Amino acid sequence: MASDNDTISSTTRLLRSRVSKHAIIGLLISVMCILLATSLAGFIESGSINLDSMVYAQKTNFALWVLDLMPFLFVMWGQYANTVMANEASVVIMDQTSDLRAQADAIEYKANYQATHDLLTGLPNRVLLFDRMLQVQSAAKRDDKLFAILVMDLDHFKEINDTLGHYNGDRLLKQVASRLKDTVRDIDTVGRLGGDEFAVLLPAISTPKAAEDVARKLLKALEPQFEIHDINLDVTASIGIAVYPQHGDDVDTLMQRADVAMYSTKNARTGYGQYCPSLDANSKRRLSLSGELRQSIEKGGMVLHYQPKVSLRTGQIAGAEALVRWQHPEHGMMFPDEFIPLAERTGLIRPLTLWVIEKGLKDCEYWNAQGMNAGVSLNISARELIDPMIPDTFQKLLKTHDVDPSLVVLEITESAIMADPQRALDVLNRLNEMGMKISVDDFGTGYSSLAYLKQLPVSEIKIDKSFVMDMLQDENDAVIVRATIDLAHNLGMSVVAEGVQDRATREQLERLGCDVMQGQFTGMPMERDELIERGTLEPARPAIVSAEG
Ligand code: C2E
Ligand code: CA
Ligand code: CA
Repeated sequence: MASDNDTISSTTRLLRSRVSKHAIIGLLISVMCILLATSLAGFIESGSINLDSMVYAQKTNFALWVLDLMPFLFVMWGQYANTVMANEASVVIMDQTSDLRAQADAIEYKANYQATHDLLTGLPNRVLLFDRMLQVQSAAKRDDKLFAILVMDLDHFKEINDTLGHYNGDRLLKQVASRLKDTVRDIDTVGRLGGDEFAVLLPAISTPKAAEDVARKLLKALEPQFEIHDINLDVTASIGIAVYPQHGDDVDTLMQRADVAMYSTKNARTGYGQYCPSLDANSKRRLSLSGELRQSIEKGGMVLHYQPKVSLRTGQIAGAEALVRWQHPEHGMMFPDEFIPLAERTGLIRPLTLWVIEKGLKDCEYWNAQGMNAGVSLNISARELIDPMIPDTFQKLLKTHDVDPSLVVLEITESAIMADPQRALDVLNRLNEMGMKISVDDFGTGYSSLAYLKQLPVSEIKIDKSFVMDMLQDENDAVIVRATIDLAHNLGMSVVAEGVQDRATREQLERLGCDVMQGQFTGMPMERDELIERGTLEPARPAIVSAEG
């Protein structure tokens, strides 16, 4: 403010000096005019110009007296103009300065807001949340009080995002944010840590149990269905709780422990839970697992097993699905559900998929050379499906291993296609043009419909095992299986039933006109050589008969 006043007064001084300059020139001109007029008047009266004639003219000529007033008038006018102009100038400068200050304040506020808030939801971001935690922590320390931090992560948000697209994912996050905010008190802070992760700071709690009560309230607030794009969604979340000072006396530790508690809650599917030291072991395991997985992919620690796909018409093995396993040095054989999500989160899915494709094609080439004419089915995850390089990779590997592309089936889930339909369609078309077949995996568990799939180059549908396993007991499942077989056939696709575990199911599927079966009844995933042994048996002993024995 002081500097603004300085600027105004120095500018006013400058203007004043300009006005004064003009007044002084006016004064000089008027003095010159008096001298000229007096000399002229003296000359007219006495015929010569000298001091006496000029004094005489001044004494006797009334007009000269009026002229003599001019310098005084100029000086007074100059002073007056001076003051008026200076005042007007300072008003203009004041106006412009306050405009500029308002603009600068707005820019500063915006920059500050963006640095401390999440732009999608308008909630405080990690920076502001940590700042508030620091304040709350120093007050709690001084007054010997408790406070709690809750970390919340939505369950299966990735699937929702992949299936409904990012735009709808964002809409869901906004709705979640406003429900969370409406649930807590004004003194509590709800922040967004990033992605589908939120945090709630409870600055004043009497007991750790009070934090659990809030966690329950937050989960309850998510219970009513969310409506996104005419689809009603059930959204659940997992909350980890850390309480000051018992779980840590600095904000970093508290935050990290709330995170550990959240992960453990997610695995245990208990909704919410407090941190306890024994949970640290699990989180270390998670961290070290991703490092070990990377090494195993590079150093040959992965194993590919094959599950026969058996023709319901001939009883022969028509193909085999490649299913990856991890031969872990300490934990033993690990199954995909335990490490595929980890691989997808850490980007290891790319090298893993490349390894599976290469090994699968090599083994397919091998069993064909051994006289088992069967194709190989490979699982392709959502992230790989939108990789524009994947068709080139296939092109190269098919050539290296001399495998007929028509023997290769790529299994893709509906949600993988829906994640980015346009890009997925481009990639699928290219893969299909190369001669490979596309199969829709886990059919019936996603949101899309057969009508949508009609636009894709799909030649096979795999009915999810959850429907097949119970189809003899559950009428709803039976209806879904029957309808899927009929519709798929109408669209010219063949149908594989997954999870066939007994003869009765097999016979029912045969009656319904299903083409291929896969499951415990004809064999669980096995090593390559065992598959070849079964597949090269004489036609008199079809695979399904041997599988029963
Ligand atoms: P999926 O593609 O649906 O594979 C079928 C899963 O069902 C396999 O589990 C198989 O062992 C199991 N299964 C087969 N028949 C039966 C049965 O009669 N009863 C029961 N209860 N289960 C049966 P697995 O091998 O644990 O694989 C699980 C999932 O992991 C697969 O589901 C697939 O989505 C994923 N996966 C496996 N290998 C790969 C891979 O190489 N890449 C990618 N991206 N995903 C993979
Ligand atoms: Ca599959
Ligand atoms: Ca499946």
